[in-house]
Amino acid sequence: MMRTLFLNPPSYQGFDGGAGARYQAKREIRSYWYPTWLAQPAALVPGSRLVDAPPAGLTVTDVVPLAREHDLAVVHTSSPTFAGDIGVAKAMKAANPALIVGFVGAKVAVEPELSLLASDAIDFVAREEFDFTIAEVAQEHPLASIDGVSYRDGGKVVHNANRMIIEDMDSLPFVTPVYKRDLRPENYSIGYLRHPYLSLYTGRGCRSRCTFCLWPQTVGGHRYRTRSVRHVLAEAALATRLFPQVKELFFDDDTFTDDRPRAEAIARGLARLGISWSCNAKANVPRETLQILKDNGLRLVVVGYESGNQAILNNVKKGLRVDRARRFARDCHDLGITMHGTFILGLPGETRETIEETIRYAKEVNPHTIQVSVAAPYPGTQMYQQAKESGWLPADIDDSALVSEEGTQLAALSYPHLGHNEIMNSVDSFYKRFYFRAGKLAEMSAELLRRPDMAARRMREGAEFMRFLGRRTHCSEVS
Ligand code: SF4
Repeated sequence: MMRTLFLNPPSYQGFDGGAGARYQAKREIRSYWYPTWLAQPAALVPGSRLVDAPPAGLTVTDVVPLAREHDLAVVHTSSPTFAGDIGVAKAMKAANPALIVGFVGAKVAVEPELSLLASDAIDFVAREEFDFTIAEVAQEHPLASIDGVSYRDGGKVVHNANRMIIEDMDSLPFVTPVYKRDLRPENYSIGYLRHPYLSLYTGRGCRSRCTFCLWPQTVGGHRYRTRSVRHVLAEAALATRLFPQVKELFFDDDTFTDDRPRAEAIARGLARLGISWSCNAKANVPRETLQILKDNGLRLVVVGYESGNQAILNNVKKGLRVDRARRFARDCHDLGITMHGTFILGLPGETRETIEETIRYAKEVNPHTIQVSVAAPYPGTQMYQQAKESGWLPADIDDSALVSEEGTQLAALSYPHLGHNEIMNSVDSFYKRFYFRAGKLAEMSAELLRRPDMAARRMREGAEFMRFLGRRTHCSEVS
């Protein structure tokens, strides 16, 4: 077995775009997802080590010496950080020329050849779901014999057969012991989740086909493949034993509510364990299911509303009707389920008028908190292809245009009737008009009175958020 390092490399300060982030950018407030996509293969490689540099505040200088302690480094990369990640790989190779470096992640899964040609510092890339691929590399199987690997052989790139998609999800070992061994839950925070939280996947893939959405189109696929209820509950129970300080479990499946009977069964089991939990949900869950989930410990749902304009939802194949989403929001409010709503500006079909429509819609469905993103055309998505073909994305632009020099989101797409600056400025306007309302300010103040233990955290997040808005305003003024 090779001494194996799983590395989420250092990149932009505060960058939350690693091995657990669907949206690859530094967020408005300190925010980190668990690097679950790396923890999973790490659980298959005995004696390995997982280093998640950004939340731990580690720099390149900190991680390079690790090269000398390992034979294999598995680096999780993303489109916006790829060039910088190559720099980290080169520095590690310089420290240990015998180190084998493999890159994983959606970026290299869809562009294996380009990725390998980009630098000699990358020995191989693992495409598709890479858990068992990496386990075989760590077991020192020859690269030529491993499905799902692309590698350089002499002067040419070789692509092995595709790795079969995992059908028996219970064959994946628990990630929680890896979290315990290598991570500190206190380093991970998400504004709308209790702190510290712990996130787990109970399945992979999403049956929806949203054209902008990265994971189902690159590594997860469009079938929701799930772990058994028993397997999930056993890990949840283990998590509570290993991490008594954790206040909430978050089920970060693309759409946890897509298999409703199973979601209800997991909820009932979690209630028996006395665990507070939250999950991703699509805004089409029937009230009866929401009621069962709420009665069994569900605290919060993260909901992708995306847009208040039906034509835009149709354009991106969201598979959701605005009126259905309105009913879902009413049900959540009635049942006392907290919502974090996510919205995207600049999707195909966006105009000044639809932006206004979406802001009005957000205020109407009124999630407790929101996140406003700009459409990010990641390679491997239909939206990327569409943008290239339609001229919304300049042909000579590279992937680093997805984020600013600080790693925050940038509007890469631009339309003849709606430029990227206008889309970016609308993000600030959206946040201000959503949060700076009497009703919303009163709601936030009431939360602080109810939960004085959250005051310090909310003050810090509030200050970070105001700094973000201030910086954005400045950028907009000078651009
Ligand atoms: S429903 Fe959500 S997770 Fe599924 S494809 Fe659409 S955006 Fe992605």
